[in-house]
Amino acid sequence: MQRLQGIAVSPGVAIGEALVVDNEGFRIPRRFLPRDAVDEELGRLDRALAAAAAEVQRNRDRVQTQLGDEYAAIFTAHLQMLNDRRLREEIVDLIRNRHYSPEYAVSRSLRRYAKAFQEIEGEYMSERANDIFDIEKRILRNLLGQRREELSQVTSPVLVLARNLTPSETANLNPQFVLGLATEVGGPGSHTAIVAEGLGIPAVVGIGGFLTDVSGGDTVIVDGDQGMVILSPDEETLARYRHEVEEQRSLATKLERLRELPAETTDGQRIQLLGNIEFPAEVHQCLDRGADGIGLYRTEFLYLGRDDDPSEDAHHAAYAEVAETMADHPVVIRTLDLGADKLRTLPDPEDERNPFLGLRSIRLALKNRDMFRTQLRAILRASAHGNIRLMFPLIGTLMELRQAKMVLADAMEDLEEAGIAFDRDMKVGMMVEVPAAVVMMDMFVHEVDFFSIGTNDLIQYCLAVDRSNKDVASLYTAADPAVLRLIQMAINSANKAGVPISMCGQMCGSPMYTMLLLGLGLRSMSVTPSAVPEIKRVCRTVAIDQCQRVAEHALKLDNARDIKTYLKEELTKVFPEFPV
Ligand code: PEP
Ligand code: MG
Repeated sequence: MQRLQGIAVSPGVAIGEALVVDNEGFRIPRRFLPRDAVDEELGRLDRALAAAAAEVQRNRDRVQTQLGDEYAAIFTAHLQMLNDRRLREEIVDLIRNRHYSPEYAVSRSLRRYAKAFQEIEGEYMSERANDIFDIEKRILRNLLGQRREELSQVTSPVLVLARNLTPSETANLNPQFVLGLATEVGGPGSHTAIVAEGLGIPAVVGIGGFLTDVSGGDTVIVDGDQGMVILSPDEETLARYRHEVEEQRSLATKLERLRELPAETTDGQRIQLLGNIEFPAEVHQCLDRGADGIGLYRTEFLYLGRDDDPSEDAHHAAYAEVAETMADHPVVIRTLDLGADKLRTLPDPEDERNPFLGLRSIRLALKNRDMFRTQLRAILRASAHGNIRLMFPLIGTLMELRQAKMVLADAMEDLEEAGIAFDRDMKVGMMVEVPAAVVMMDMFVHEVDFFSIGTNDLIQYCLAVDRSNKDVASLYTAADPAVLRLIQMAINSANKAGVPISMCGQMCGSPMYTMLLLGLGLRSMSVTPSAVPEIKRVCRTVAIDQCQRVAEHALKLDNARDIKTYLKEELTKVFPEFPV
C-alpha cells in the first residue's frame, strides 16, 4: 500500500482499477487474454521486441557515426536489455501463465526493474531507471501502434491516472466509466480540476511523479475530499473507504429531498442558487438538483476539442437548447474565455510567456472581432428563446467593457436590419475577476446590469499565484484576507448601487465559505451542479445575522490558515457531519 498526497479538487471517493495514461498518452491496459490467444499474443510481443531493437540499432549506428562510441554506448545498453533472454522469459511467463496482455506484462516487468534502480541511491542509478522507462515506452509504442485508445472510449469502470489532462480531454471523459481521476501536475484552480468537479468525478491533482509506481489494473483509491491517492490499499483501508462511499451515497439521498425547496435562510432571506455549466447537457444536472438557473455557461468549451471555429448556427443550437430547457429560469451565457489553459494548441512560448497575463479571454475576443461577432449574433438570436443574459469575462478596464458593448451593439443593429428576432432588453453583465475591476467598481456599476465575481481568477491575480501550478498551490486560497477584502469591496459597491451581484468562482461551491459570503451581503451564487444541494442545505440552516457575525470575525483575522480553521469550526457547529 502506498499513500500519495496531492491537491483535492473534486470531492468524493472512488475505488477501482487504475487506467494509467503515461506522458505520451499511452493507455496501458490490463487485459486478460483468452487462453487460445496466448500464442498469437506471444508472436505480437516478439515482433514488438524485434522492431524496438531494430529502432535502437538504427539510433546507435547513427549516433556512432555522428558522435562516436561513447555516446553510442547508451543505445548499446538499451539493445542489451531488449535482447535480454531473462527479461523476455519473465514477460512470456506473465503472458502464458497469468494470461496478461503483452502491454501489461511489459509494463509490469520493466517497471519493477526501474523501481529497483530508483530505490538505489545515486544519480547514476536513477538515470538507469529512466533508461528502463524509455525502453518500456519504445516497446509499448510498437505494441500499441495504431491501437492507441482514446480516453473518451473507455467502456469499463476505471480510475484514470495521468501525468496531465487538458480541460478538453477531461471534458470528454465519460463519468459513467471514469470513476476517479488523479494527475501528477495541475493546480487547485485549473480548468481540468473545474471540469472534473463539473462532471462529478472525484479528483486529486498535483501529486508529483507517481505513475511509475502503478500499473494498469492495480486497485487504487482516489480520495477527492482529502486530496489523497492510495495505491494497492490493504483490506482494512479498503473496508474503511467502502464504508465512506456508502455514507456519501446516503448523504446524497438525503440532500436529494431538498430539490423542490428554496435556498432560503431561517430568517426568510431567499438566496438565488444557480449552476455552472460547460456543456448544454449539464442543464439537466442543474434542474435535477434544484438550481434556480444557470449562473455561468462557459461557452469556450464549444471551441475546445475541435479544429475549426464553431459556426454561428452551431453556437446558436447550443444556446437555444440551454435556454429552452431552462424555460424561464435565467441563463447567463459568458462570451468566449479562451486562452491561458483553455487552448486548442499550446502557443509558442515566444508569443506567450505568461499565458494568464497574455492574450486571453475578452482581450482575445476583441482582437478576433469576426469570431466574437459570430458568437454574439448567436447569443442574441438565442435570446428570443428564453431568459438569456450575456456576460463578458476578464474585464479589467472600462474601455474594454465599452469596446465589447460596442461590438454587441453592432451585432444587434445587424440583426435588427435583417429582421431577426432577439431580446432587445437582454441584460448585459461582466465578471469581476481582475482586481482592477474591483477597485473601479463605483464606475462599472453605471455600465452593466449585473456582476459575477470570478474568484478562480481573482485569487490568482490578487495573490500573484498561478491557479494551475501545483508548486504554489498552498498559496492559492480564497481564504486569504486580501482576497476576502476584495470580495467585500465588490459586494459592497454593487449592493450600494443596487446592481445585482453574484459569484460563480469555485469558492462559493464550498460549504465552508457559505456563511461568510452570506454575511458579506452576497445573495446569489453559481456553483458546480453537484454542489447545489449542499450549499442549499447550509443556506436553509443559517440566519443572516449569524452569518454577519461570522464574516465580521473572519475579516478580523490576518491570515488564511486561521480564517480557514475558524470557518471550518463554524460550519462544524452547524453541520457536525460535513467532511471539512
Ligand atoms: C473564475 O475565474 O472564477 C471563473 C468562474 O471563470 P473561469 O474559472 O472559467 O476562469
Ligand atoms: Mg475566470
